[in-house]
Amino acid sequence: MINITLPDGSVRQYDKGITAMKIALSISEGLARNVLAAEVDGEVWDSSRPIEKDSSVKLLTWNDTKGKSTFWHSSAHLMAEALEALYPGTKFGIGPAIETGFYYDVDFGDREFSSDEFKKIEDKIIELAKTKEEFVRKPVSKADALAYFTEKGDEYKLDLIKDLPDGSITFYTQGNFTDLCRGPHIPNTGFIKAVKLMSVAGAYWRGDESRKQLTRIYGVTFPKASELTDYLHILEEAKKRDHRKLGKELELFAFSEKVGMGLPLWLPKGTALREKLVNFLQKAQVKAGYEQVITPHIGHKNLYVTSGHYEKYGADAFQPIKTPQEGEEFFLKPMNCPHHCEIYKTKPRSYKDLPVRLAEFGTVYRYEQSGELHGLTRVRGFTQDDAHLFCRPDQVKEEFMKVIDLVLYVFKALGFDDYVAQVSLRDPENKAKYIGSDENWALAEAAIIEAAEEKGLRTVVELGEAAFYGPKLDFMVKDALGRKWQLGTIQVDYNLPERFELEYTGSDNMKHRPVMIHRAPFGSLERFVAVLIEHCAGSFPLWLSPEQFIILPISEKYEDYAKKLSEELKNSDICGLIDFRDEKIGRKIRDAEVKKIPYMLIVGEKEAAENVVSVRKHGQGDLGSMSIEEFKKQIIKEITV
Ligand SMILES: [Zn+2]
Ligand SMILES: [Zn+2]
Repeated sequence: MINITLPDGSVRQYDKGITAMKIALSISEGLARNVLAAEVDGEVWDSSRPIEKDSSVKLLTWNDTKGKSTFWHSSAHLMAEALEALYPGTKFGIGPAIETGFYYDVDFGDREFSSDEFKKIEDKIIELAKTKEEFVRKPVSKADALAYFTEKGDEYKLDLIKDLPDGSITFYTQGNFTDLCRGPHIPNTGFIKAVKLMSVAGAYWRGDESRKQLTRIYGVTFPKASELTDYLHILEEAKKRDHRKLGKELELFAFSEKVGMGLPLWLPKGTALREKLVNFLQKAQVKAGYEQVITPHIGHKNLYVTSGHYEKYGADAFQPIKTPQEGEEFFLKPMNCPHHCEIYKTKPRSYKDLPVRLAEFGTVYRYEQSGELHGLTRVRGFTQDDAHLFCRPDQVKEEFMKVIDLVLYVFKALGFDDYVAQVSLRDPENKAKYIGSDENWALAEAAIIEAAEEKGLRTVVELGEAAFYGPKLDFMVKDALGRKWQLGTIQVDYNLPERFELEYTGSDNMKHRPVMIHRAPFGSLERFVAVLIEHCAGSFPLWLSPEQFIILPISEKYEDYAKKLSEELKNSDICGLIDFRDEKIGRKIRDAEVKKIPYMLIVGEKEAAENVVSVRKHGQGDLGSMSIEEFKKQIIKEITV
């Protein structure tokens, strides 16, 4: 008998050679129907593979990332089988799972291929899936593997086998199709109920431009037809919400090739939105004991030699700016931390002065390859809502709790209510990789875990994901479409205080090193605004809207009344505009809807005579007429909620 430890810690005994599938069956038949693969001592295996020794076993289903990727990788095999059936003589490169779905690189020879053929392939995939072909694993010798693909005439597989050590090679067969593969796979093709081929592209064999270009076909599959429908709906919705598209339509930001790629230009409305975010956070930070600082956009090379950035990123960064006379070198600031360390050092600090919390909306510049740039989410210049907390080791936990409060305050105000905190700790097997004493690491890691626990956060702990200089906590937020974004990061740092020789005088009158915490609730304003636009589809919370109202006079005659109303609202810090165009009122309403302006105030003869406004709310329609005082009250109430 062998002992199988399950994820809940329970231990069950089975005969040697038991499989994960049989373990699942022994627990429940329902579970067994959903098992795609299993993690055996940390390695993903076929659920049909015999387990020969005491092991910990985690059964993987569609709900596990590794279960999904096994499903998608198996789907790549199935697509290959369909391609071989439809286009005999096709040769195959590699077919991995990716974040959403899978691809296969194939060589169709002289055949022209386009997405017009997707439907035919999808139908074939489903036809084959229905026959529930089992994925059968078979170890083969290198000689046999070479013989098989020589006979088949597939030079790509031969190229792959060439690099594999004898004794490690396995084939997988489903139906009439055999592939070179390490596995693992799902039990049979019957699990695959829905498929959509997404796109086709060229890809050089092994990413090498001097070699043949293959055809890469991307696809995605699901265990239920309804999941495919949902997925396609989300893709459609994501397209509509794309921040690059909405940013243009709502006139928030723009890019100009003359200014330079990846350098956003904030238009007046985008700037208004951004300023509101800055003011909102700044106010909260002042309350939480932060002090605002400002540092230059460039720094002397020596600053980055001290911080270590020069050595690590110097060659991949924007290259230095040189002075004409003295031959000095300056770099565009890639991070605010080194500057803040120098601010810390401007005067002696005692243990009573700590924590020192320095905050800056600091604009930084990082070189990104042009192909990597993407709207506001990947740019070359951006503004971090940065702060650095310099504290004593015994203050780390309390500071963490305060930063968590701040992050949650931001999330709540902006309508992000689905998030998980990821705690990244060091790899306990590999402590030499990290800087800082064991004692301090233990203290900081415990502080982060306890702080997250006391704040009642949903957490996942990742061992080995800490930076070499300290553990961290990241907030992973799900947006309205269920997409995950990393927002809000809190990071402990033992490295920079060491490099900058930061000190404070302890109660023992001795010199000590402070601990540094980097934190940014938004991350960067650029990325945050991008996520926010996509999350709320451009309909920002009222307090954040760059234009909260628009007054729509029915004709020229009521413009004076409109101006009077606008002044009155502006005096109460409610911002908006008047549509003076000579257009029909129906057209003005439609245009205001497209611009997602929260409130439309329609004024005509009746309104001017009775000193009221007719109010329409974006997405809700007519709210009836009310006095300007009533309207103001409603807005103020909504903003302060
Ligand atoms: Zn495979
Ligand atoms: Zn920093």
